[in-house]
Amino acid sequence: MPNMDVESLIAAHVRGMQPYVPIVPLDVLSKRLGLPKERIVKLDANENPYGTSPRALEAVAASRELHIYPDPDQTALRDALSAFVGVPAEHILCGAGGDEVIDLVGRAFVEPGQFIVDLPPTFGMYKWEADVLEAQYVSVPRRRDFSIDIEAVEGTVRALEASGLPPKLLFVTNPNNPDGSVTAHQDLLRLLDLPVVVVVDEAYIDFSQQPSLAPLVPERGNLIVLRTFSKLAGMAGMRVGYGVFPLPVIKHLWKVKQPYTPNVAGSLMAIAAMQDREWLDHSVRALTAERQRMSDALRALGWIEPLPSETNFVLCRIREGREAKAVKQAIERQGVLVRYFDKDGLRDCLRISVGKPEHTDALIAALTRVGQV
Ligand code: PMP
Repeated sequence: MPNMDVESLIAAHVRGMQPYVPIVPLDVLSKRLGLPKERIVKLDANENPYGTSPRALEAVAASRELHIYPDPDQTALRDALSAFVGVPAEHILCGAGGDEVIDLVGRAFVEPGQFIVDLPPTFGMYKWEADVLEAQYVSVPRRRDFSIDIEAVEGTVRALEASGLPPKLLFVTNPNNPDGSVTAHQDLLRLLDLPVVVVVDEAYIDFSQQPSLAPLVPERGNLIVLRTFSKLAGMAGMRVGYGVFPLPVIKHLWKVKQPYTPNVAGSLMAIAAMQDREWLDHSVRALTAERQRMSDALRALGWIEPLPSETNFVLCRIREGREAKAVKQAIERQGVLVRYFDKDGLRDCLRISVGKPEHTDALIAALTRVGQV
């Protein structure tokens, strides 16, 4: 090996980049906590504990084509999605989770130095994407109640346009992660009047009362809608997500996409999941009912303020001199995992995913023990 500093060859913007901090896997946690996996109550990643429809598992078990590359055109999956979402299949492209679709949108639209507008606190992948692309990242913070300051977004987009550098993408998560709030339909329509491509990430829309914007995509030139099978269909481990795109855009997305995602098993499972509406509806009903029960039980503790949520998680402010980080660590030692945030707009907050009733019970028992200390 020649005597050289190989690391210095890494692209400068990657060397300077902060890594995305993903969730710690169950096996690692189990070792770290010294607890068997079954004892761990995992409420930190907004996964759906009801998992996949049994029909989805049967579809994979019955497949004799797992040794064959997936259909790069995703024909069967996109046809099924067309009926499921209510838009023609030509508007739909699937990827390895919503994460891959976010990456494809970024790569198709944004050149280094161009602007991406984000509305934090929100999902961290948009910022990550801006960093990877060497894009200029502009944030228009949400208000303390997590509502979007529509006038501020309009002002920011118009100012960038006036300066000759109109932003390429505006990411709007609806409902928003990590707080679970929704943005009113008329506010979303106002954002769509801006001279920017609006990417509405609807990863959690199925747990809300809001209608999806996906059916609007064919008639609106600047709207992209992202969805995923991770939450609704309990398939986070399978990595299947999709976007609904205007036709002039989607043909370019296909060009920057690697050919064989999602994989065969994930695609088969997603198709079977869509055919089992009853399973999907059941898990949404169970999780939304449990969201209410969990919020009530958290509030009853007296030192936790759960915020209203239209998702499968609840953001909580910790009160009365307790520190969210210490609470997170104390319940983690008891095998209950929640997400702790320490950034602007999210000081002393915990985000707790909604699980099954027994998960709520374990959570409340662990928090009660903390409260007694
Ligand atoms: N969008 C939002 C708002 C999310 O919270 C997530 C997952 N945490 C995703 C997209 C991506 O999900 P996936 O890649 O599992 O489809």
